[in-house]
Amino acid sequence: MSSISFSPSKEKKCACGVPLARLTGWTRENPGRKFRSCKFYDPITETRGCKAFEWVDEPDGTAWQTKVINNLLLDKKLMKGEVSDLKREIDNLSGQRRCLLNEIDSLKVINKALSCDSKQMHMEQRANSLNTYVVVVGICYFFFILGMLLVIKLG
Ligand SMILES: [Zn+2]
Repeated sequence: MSSISFSPSKEKKCACGVPLARLTGWTRENPGRKFRSCKFYDPITETRGCKAFEWVDEPDGTAWQTKVINNLLLDKKLMKGEVSDLKREIDNLSGQRRCLLNEIDSLKVINKALSCDSKQMHMEQRANSLNTYVVVVGICYFFFILGMLLVIKLG
């Protein structure tokens, strides 16, 4: 290739004057095949700084091996999609769990307040029944004294 030159240190440089990048191709035709090319890659235009390109190795896979590798690559891509779906689901569930824990906390606060109210009502009820008891005993005592006075007067 005319755009590749050797530097004094025997390192191949491209027309941009920088050492070639050693990369691996993942095209359907050459999955996993190593090559050297210009390292200035523009992902938007999918072009490199210059046209420097060379295969490092000879194609060593047979057609069925290439097919198997491509199928495995497709599986890997699908599994990556599944993994990211599952990660999203886990994030959603974590959010829901946080919401539920917050709800439990606020319900605990309400429950505590209600049990305090209930305790107070219980105590008030007890005080009321004690008052009633005192009044009844007082009335009984009054009639007892009245009866005794009548007995003393009549007797
Ligand atoms: Zn270059």
